[in-house]
Amino acid sequence: MKFDTIAAIATALGEGGIGIIRVSGPDAITIVDKIYKGKNSLSTVDTHTIHYGHIIDSSGAIIDEVLISVFRTPKSYTMEDVVEINCHGGIMPLRRVLATVTDAGARLAEPGEFTKRAFLNGRIDLSQAEAVIDLIRSKTDLSMKAAMSQVQGSLSKQIHTIRQQLVELMAHIEVTIDYPEHDVEEVTKELVINTTEQAIDNIDKILATADQGKIIRDGISAAIIGRPNVGKSSLLNAMLKENRAIVTDIPGTTRDILEEYINVKGIPVKIIDTAGIRETEDIVEQLGVERSRAVMQDADLILFMLNVAEELTEYDITLLKELQGKQAIVILNKTDLVAVFTEDNIKQYVDNTSIISLSAKEEEGIEHLYSEIERLFIEESIKQTDFSFVTNTRHTALLKTAKAQLNEALNGVQFDVPMDMVTIDITSAWESLGEITGDTVAEGLLDQLFAQFCLGK
Ligand code: GDP
Ligand code: ZN
Repeated sequence: MKFDTIAAIATALGEGGIGIIRVSGPDAITIVDKIYKGKNSLSTVDTHTIHYGHIIDSSGAIIDEVLISVFRTPKSYTMEDVVEINCHGGIMPLRRVLATVTDAGARLAEPGEFTKRAFLNGRIDLSQAEAVIDLIRSKTDLSMKAAMSQVQGSLSKQIHTIRQQLVELMAHIEVTIDYPEHDVEEVTKELVINTTEQAIDNIDKILATADQGKIIRDGISAAIIGRPNVGKSSLLNAMLKENRAIVTDIPGTTRDILEEYINVKGIPVKIIDTAGIRETEDIVEQLGVERSRAVMQDADLILFMLNVAEELTEYDITLLKELQGKQAIVILNKTDLVAVFTEDNIKQYVDNTSIISLSAKEEEGIEHLYSEIERLFIEESIKQTDFSFVTNTRHTALLKTAKAQLNEALNGVQFDVPMDMVTIDITSAWESLGEITGDTVAEGLLDQLFAQFCLGK
């Protein structure tokens, strides 16, 4: 495949010590060489070397003082010749150098185009490319590890293994369709059953990590519910103070994200804005209950807060009873004051719901809350794994489709459907799995996926 030469600012915009312009393509070195003045011509230098010099305009005037890294094909991010120009940070130097590079013959890159080239040139597959976005956007150390594992091909390897099994099976079926002797057919039937069952088994193993993967990548939403003045805002502030995991505006992304997460032992926890139910003192009790219910419905986790220094009210008791069967933690707040009830008193209203005590104001006992959240959402088994999860809902959906198609094939064999019909289902499953890695994929989808990247990546 032959591409043109592209360029973009690869670092975040804004003031910084340095900024990098990345240039990739067959003419990357020639183009930058035209506007570079240093000791050596870049066309003569070795791969993976750095050079000091200046970027000059057509009149020879100096635009910026730079360090230039040269990566020759195929050992580069895109597998093409790549030149990275380290300029002074700040929006003006970067824009001027970029304009000089494009005047010299490079085209402005689209968001994600460098990573797209790495994919199209065969350095990484689609699931790895998608993991690059996850890596950039990861909210906690745990989500970063999961993304990194996928960048390095953990998911790809598992998918390739299953696809390989299916290809061999299809080849075998082809042979028997061409030579339809009875005993050959019996053997084939058994082989189809064994192989599809095994493939389904392997898909199930990957799918089993999906729930955890989604929690680790996307996090959970939590709502702090409770009467006015029990201490909801105080707890939120205490949590934010220690463990703010901010996902801010990523420049150049199509969807600008501005969300705030709390990093609870590697789980990104987003506190649902309960502004709607904020403490208007004169709201009638009934309204409070109903609004709280509505918020509880939308949350992955309910943090139901009580004030141990005050008697329970009807609101408290009504909602406590409704926590049954939900992911919830009852928080007894204000343990620094004299308590008028205990955790044991609460147990009569909730059967299995966890109860913890803390003081939001004194910031004491908040660690109990974190441990409890971890216990509810992270399975013991994953703490020692290689962080290989399926985290992406696109991948999960395709795995489920492939599984259904294999089940269809399995049913077909068991009901003596002709082999060439069975092959159709197996082929479909093979293609669905190929969409995860990008081996079989529509061009439109690629554009859509890579458009989510930031510029310069
Ligand atoms: P919210 O209405 O539920 O959001 O409650 P706030 O967080 O605004 O707190 C209401 C009042 O309770 C404030 O005066 C807080 O300082 C106080 N408060 C919150 N947590 C504690 C605590 O753990 N101990 C004590 N003594 N007071 C607290
Ligand atoms: Zn509040």
